[in-house]
Amino acid sequence: MAHYLVFLEQRGGCISKVSVDTWNRVQQQAAQEGESVSGFVGGPLKPTALGELYGNGTIYHAQDEALSLPSETLLCRILSALVAEEGCTGIVIGATAAGRRLAPYLAETLHASLLGGCAGGSLHSELCRRYIYSGLVLAAYRPEASIRIFLQGREQSRRSFFSTDRPHCVSFDASPFFVPHENLLIRSVTSGNSRKSIAESAIIVAGGRGMGGKDQFVLLEELASLLGGSVGASRSAVDEGWRPHSDQIGQTGKAVAPDLYIACGISGAVQHLAGLSSARTVVAVNSDPHAPVFDAADYGIVGDVREVIPAFIGAVKEVLQKK
Ligand SMILES: Cc1cc2nc3c(=O)[nH]c(=O)nc-3n(C[C@H](O)[C@H](O)[C@H](O)COP(=O)(O)OP(=O)(O)OC[C@H]3O[C@@H](n4cnc5c(N)ncnc54)[C@H](O)[C@@H]3O)c2cc1C
Repeated sequence: MAHYLVFLEQRGGCISKVSVDTWNRVQQQAAQEGESVSGFVGGPLKPTALGELYGNGTIYHAQDEALSLPSETLLCRILSALVAEEGCTGIVIGATAAGRRLAPYLAETLHASLLGGCAGGSLHSELCRRYIYSGLVLAAYRPEASIRIFLQGREQSRRSFFSTDRPHCVSFDASPFFVPHENLLIRSVTSGNSRKSIAESAIIVAGGRGMGGKDQFVLLEELASLLGGSVGASRSAVDEGWRPHSDQIGQTGKAVAPDLYIACGISGAVQHLAGLSSARTVVAVNSDPHAPVFDAADYGIVGDVREVIPAFIGAVKEVLQKK
């Protein structure tokens, strides 16, 4: 029987959305396959922090302040000890920036197989499958090590999990794992502003070169704010200097999994579409009726963004006023 350990990343005392999805998805699979799940979270938590986690199992919580910011070496020691004590054969980590830093450290420490972005199937299938080359090829891997570490983005963990069970939380003192004079991360600075990360947004309004300039993104900001979403961008828009790189979606940007993706003045190059394969509903606005983005869209509007987006904003305002 497999036993999984899920690393729960916290920010500001709350469990990150990616970690919540990862936990609930692993719980869902464990319930189907008779496997068990534990979790680990470090740093002080808000009283409601574990409120969105469902299913059975134990969450080990180290309250130490120094764990508020994820420091790979310290986390490695704690997680390795938990893996040994619990007899875990799989460790699941959300593919956030911190998760991507932690996973290879842990794989090296535990001599584990590291698998990123596996598609479907059981975590303990003999073969793990993963899309490569912008989703054009499905490659199969046979992990050799007895312990597997999975890095999972929201695309693998978006299905709803229905359970009334709640995990049991056990607090412990992590101070024995601290090493004197070790460098620990003491401060992190978020780039630019306090906007919600596009990786966690349920609604994304993205703009490409067809927006025509940096100023036009004000329209997308307004639409995104009315819908409670975030603004994303194609690489061309980023290369033009209209948006920061943190907004870029696609092969060399972020993979996103929103409920609604509105692509404005984006052609739909394969490298861009690679980042939104998990979007539930895609709406495309483009003046070229033959733009490839329409092949990937659920709804398409052929028109000029400078006319369509203001009309869209007006319609949303009307609906919101009636509420
Ligand atoms: C190795 C590699 C990695 C890459 N990684 C990424 C990545 O991560 N993300 C990414 O996005 N790209 C990536 N690219 C670039 C990608 O190939 C495309 O060049 C890029 O996505 C095009 O951006 P775009 O659609 O905004 O611009 P364009 O291709 O120039 O398209 C602009 C679109 O806007 C439409 N348009 C023009 N004016 C208007 C208007 N007034 N109203 C409505 N529509 C209008 C046009 O019809 C056109 O379809 C990568 C490329 C390579 C080689």
